[in-house]
Amino acid sequence: MAHVKLHIPGPVEVSEKTFRAFSSPMVGHRGQGFKDLYAKMQPQLQSLLYTKQLVYLSTSSAWGVMEGAIRNLVTKKVLNCMCGAFSDKWLDVSQRCGKQAEGLKVEWGSPIRAEQIDAKLATGQFDALTLIHNETSTGVMSPLEEIAALKKKYPDVMFIVDAVSSLTATKIEFDKLGIDVLLAGTQKAFAMPPGLAVFAASPAALAKAATVKDRGYYFDFVEFQKNAEGHMTPSTPSIGHVYALASKLEDFFAEGLEARYARHSKLAKMTQDWAARNGFTLFPDKGFESVTLTCISNGARPGGRVIDVAKLQKLVKDQGILIDGGYGKIKGTTFRLSNMGDETEATMNKLYTALDNALKAL
Ligand SMILES: *Cc1c(COP(=O)(O)O)cnc(C)c1O
Repeated sequence: MAHVKLHIPGPVEVSEKTFRAFSSPMVGHRGQGFKDLYAKMQPQLQSLLYTKQLVYLSTSSAWGVMEGAIRNLVTKKVLNCMCGAFSDKWLDVSQRCGKQAEGLKVEWGSPIRAEQIDAKLATGQFDALTLIHNETSTGVMSPLEEIAALKKKYPDVMFIVDAVSSLTATKIEFDKLGIDVLLAGTQKAFAMPPGLAVFAASPAALAKAATVKDRGYYFDFVEFQKNAEGHMTPSTPSIGHVYALASKLEDFFAEGLEARYARHSKLAKMTQDWAARNGFTLFPDKGFESVTLTCISNGARPGGRVIDVAKLQKLVKDQGILIDGGYGKIKGTTFRLSNMGDETEATMNKLYTALDNALKAL
């Protein structure tokens, strides 16, 4: 079957080089070969997250660590910041973990703002909050720096941040921001196959986790720390993913992180321009557009062009490219184009050409 190139916002296209690394011969996960591999990556991971903390590898998708953060860090009540499908679900997940939880809800398409969080935390009810930096379902990037600044005012509240679709594509300085947990799955901005998550926890988060009961085993942050100190993971990891990550880190640093961030911003801007050129409006509030994907309004917001999204998808797929037709309650009234991972101006231009051809044929 001919491969259909992925321009959906996750999973994204994986390079041949990454696949080759993924299928490297096995080593034992308690042996020196594995320890050397992890130890070699650790400083690169720390540079990527701008942290002195050890960066952990979890063989799970992002949700494993998202749920783990709740189980490790919430004792009183968690504030789940909700602005799209993934962030909305975190409230449900918190409740399923048996935790007291409350949502801070904004309209889909809008970001979460610091003053809204401040008003909630001022009640003194909360000991943790969850935030999705880049809400992949709506293409909205919330202002992380402005929100993280609140940590100074609320030092005992655990700030848990999902950067699944933004980490590696934009600068997120873990230590400087003062956040407590930063996590990402690797099938989005990292451009790896699904099945691995990377994350870091602050000293305060680790100290708190050590006091929290019923945090389980598989996602116990204390276990991750203890094992990472010896360049290992608590249980047998997907070793193929670890090889793939080592290869990917080489790529990131060969390109240069700043160049990588600039590339993502530029490609997102190109997609925004394509949308405007074709009479579409964007779904996110102005100024909060993601740098890794573009969520285009197709009637979800007043104004702008409206087309048959299912038909557009099919016409684009006939040209060998998969795009996304909107997620959850905005399926069909939006569509999403991803530029995350290894995309370049040349590959994005191929996407725009396929879209232009499809629009002509609609
Ligand atoms: C995709 C995504 C998730 C869920 O990731 P899984 O790999 O399915 O667990 C969570 N948060 C964001 C922002 C995402 O884009």
